[in-house]
Amino acid sequence: MNALEVAAKRFGGTRVGVVGLGREGLALSRFLASVGARVLATDDKPLPALSPEVRALAEIAELRLGGLSAEVLDVDTCFVSPGVPLDVPMLARAVAEGVPLWNEPGLLLWLCPGRVVGVTGSSGKSTTAALTAAMAEADGQRTYLGGNIGRPLIESVGNMRPEDVVVLELSSFQLELVRHSPAVAAITNITPNHLDRHRTMEAYTEAKTGVFRYQTAAGVAVLNADDHASAGLAGRCPGEVHWFGRKASRAPGAYLVGRTIVVRTADGASCQVCAVDEMGLIGEHNVSNALAACALGAALGLSAEAMAGAARRFQGLPHRLEKVAEVAGVVYYNDSIATTPERSLAALRAVKEPVVLLAGGRDKHLPWEQWVTEVAERVRAVVAFGEAGAMLEDLLGRAGVRVSRARGLAEALALAASLARPGDAVLLSPGGTSYDEFRDFEARGEEFRRLVLEAKAET
Ligand code: ADP
Repeated sequence: MNALEVAAKRFGGTRVGVVGLGREGLALSRFLASVGARVLATDDKPLPALSPEVRALAEIAELRLGGLSAEVLDVDTCFVSPGVPLDVPMLARAVAEGVPLWNEPGLLLWLCPGRVVGVTGSSGKSTTAALTAAMAEADGQRTYLGGNIGRPLIESVGNMRPEDVVVLELSSFQLELVRHSPAVAAITNITPNHLDRHRTMEAYTEAKTGVFRYQTAAGVAVLNADDHASAGLAGRCPGEVHWFGRKASRAPGAYLVGRTIVVRTADGASCQVCAVDEMGLIGEHNVSNALAACALGAALGLSAEAMAGAARRFQGLPHRLEKVAEVAGVVYYNDSIATTPERSLAALRAVKEPVVLLAGGRDKHLPWEQWVTEVAERVRAVVAFGEAGAMLEDLLGRAGVRVSRARGLAEALALAASLARPGDAVLLSPGGTSYDEFRDFEARGEEFRRLVLEAKAET
C-alpha cells in the first residue's frame, strides 16, 4: 500500500478534529479530507484573523471558529497544531476522554516512505536541516525539506519515493506528539529555551528525545559531543549513535581535525570534507551546524564531494546573521531570530567587526548573566529597545557597558547608526522575542532590512 492508501485505510470515514488553522492545520485538513476523513476544523480566532485560505476549507470540512469547539471531544482522532499548548482545557479534556492526539509531523513520520532525517535541538535546527538538504541535493538525491521550516510536507507525501531524502526540522513542541522517529536523527544541542511552555529542563529534554525514541536498532542518532545535555542521551538511543564535535574521535560521525571537517563512517573509514574557512557560513556556531550536517550526510551515504560543494555554496537562511547591506562603511547584520541571550551571544562571537548591538524585545525570563559578561567584553555600544529595554539597560549599565535606550526598533536602529563608525557592524541580535512590537521574528527582521535598505538608498 502507498502512503495515501495507508492514510485512507486509517482515517477514511472516521471523524477527525484539527485544532489550530495555521499553515499546518490547513494542510492537514486538506490532506485528511482528501483521504476520506470527516474533518472538524477549529480555531480560537475568528475568520477575519485567519488566513484567507481558511474560508475555502468550508467546502471540505466543518469549520468552528472564534473558540475551540467542544465537538473535538467527540472525534476519533484529534490533530493539534504546534502553537496550541497541550494543556488548554479542551485538549486536556479530550485526552481525559481517551481521544488520541496527533500532529502533522507525527502523521508524516508514520506515512513517509522516504529516507527521513529529523533535526531537533535548541538552536541550529533550521541551518543544519537546510544544509543537510542542500548536501543531499548536491549528491543527486530527490530531496524534500520541511517540518518547522518551509511548507508542511504532508501535502507531498503521496509523491515521495523510498529512495527520496526527506529532511525535517522538528521543534520540541512537534516532538511531544510523535509516535514514530526519523530513521536518521540529530540533536544539535540542548540549552534552556521554551521553558515557558515545557516548564522544566527535564520535560524539555524529554520532548527532544522523541526524535530518536521510536527508532529501531537500524536507526542512527547523531549527538553533539561538545554539548553535555545532548551527549548525555547516548545511552537512551535504540539504534547506532554517531557524533559530531570539535575533537577528533574514532566513533562514526563528523569532527574537526585542525580546521578541516572530517567524516568517519561506521566501518572506520574516514575522509576530509572541506576546510572551515571555505564554508559560506560564518561563525563558530555554524561550524557546529556544519559538523552536524556532515554527520547526517555521512549517515545517509552522501559523497564527501557533494557535502563539500554544498557547504561552500550555502550562505545561510534569512534573519540568521544575514548580511543586509553596508551603509557608510558600516555593515548591518539581521539576526532577528536570536530570541534568547544565548543565540545573541552566538552571533556576537561570529561577527569580526567592532559591534553596535541592538538588544531587547520581549524577555522570556532566561538567564542574562553570561550574556552581560561577554557583551561587556565585546561590543562598542548597545542600544537596548522594546519591553526588555529598561531591564537590559540596568544590567549592562551596572557592568559598565555603554548603553543607550530606544522605545522601538526604528528608533534603536537610528541610534545605532549614529554610534557606529566606519569599519563597525550594527548587529540586530536582540536576545528577546519580537512579540512586544511585531507579529514574529520575521516581521521584525524584515522591518530592520527595509529600514537599512532605505538608509542605503538615501546615501
Ligand atoms: P533554529 O532553527 O534552532 O531556531 P537556526 O539555524 O535558525 O536555529 O539559527 C538561529 C540562530 O541561533 C542563529 O542565528 C544563531 O544566533 C543561533 N545558533 C544557530 N546555531 C547555533 C548553534 N549551533 N549553537 C548556538 N547558537 C546557534
